[in-house]
Amino acid sequence: MTTLVQAWTGAQKRLKAAFIDSPAIDARLLLEAATGATRTDILTDPYRELTEDQEALLNTYLDKREKRMPVARILGRKGFWKLLLNLSEHVLIPRPETECLVDMVLKAYPEGESFSIADLGTGSGAILLSILSERPAAKGLGTDISEEALAVARDNAAHLGIASRAAFLRTSWGDGLHDATFDVVVSNPPYIRSDVIPTLDPEVKNHDPMLALDGGASGLEAFEALAPEIFRLLKPGGRTWLEIGFDQSEDVEKLMKSAGFEDVATYLDLSNLPRVVVGRKP
Ligand code: GLN
Repeated sequence: MTTLVQAWTGAQKRLKAAFIDSPAIDARLLLEAATGATRTDILTDPYRELTEDQEALLNTYLDKREKRMPVARILGRKGFWKLLLNLSEHVLIPRPETECLVDMVLKAYPEGESFSIADLGTGSGAILLSILSERPAAKGLGTDISEEALAVARDNAAHLGIASRAAFLRTSWGDGLHDATFDVVVSNPPYIRSDVIPTLDPEVKNHDPMLALDGGASGLEAFEALAPEIFRLLKPGGRTWLEIGFDQSEDVEKLMKSAGFEDVATYLDLSNLPRVVVGRKP
């Protein structure tokens, strides 16, 4: 029989031996999920015994983590902004850097204001649903080229109780949408240069969908398509927020200006890296 504290120690040892970055935290998260125990239980009731099923489940989780599958993907959920989002293998795991973009949009639109927003390449729906959950008078549309990703986004909208304000459409970026429809357009497109992808952590390159990472040879292919497309979709005076890679500010700003945007600027994330490019349609 294995107790909570033995299971936790054993799990940490396995993950440390596999050179996982944060063995203590990961071991705790997987143990909690496998047993239903809370962080407090592990400390206050350390000699509680695991059932055989719980022990077997923990082992399958540890096998996956040893193969560098991220905890969020093993458990199929990830906290983002104030939400707990469901995930599948078809969507990028939402990153904390992206919360910056959400924060910027929320600051631009006070609570109670009604506006329409499009999230192009919505994936799990992380950006769109975080914004809609905080702005009850807003409504939005998420597009994605992946039907499997849209299924995840729809499921998230439903369990968050905002399905009536969030529509989803399978298309490439804004293909098929009318001109001048939205007050706000956001996107976190794939922006990693193809030749950089082999150098990424196995957690990313082997487990995030390539469709959500690969920005082509220049890393800028999505932005080249998006800049004129977002300009077309925005109402006059409408604004856009785009997530970029840390070294793409100059190139993306140039693309935005040539598409006709004004007040183009780049904002830093919490690590002081360029992360969000903004622009306004005149
Ligand atoms: N920020 C992600 C990463 O670090 C990349 C996501 C993207 O290309 N939009 O892997």
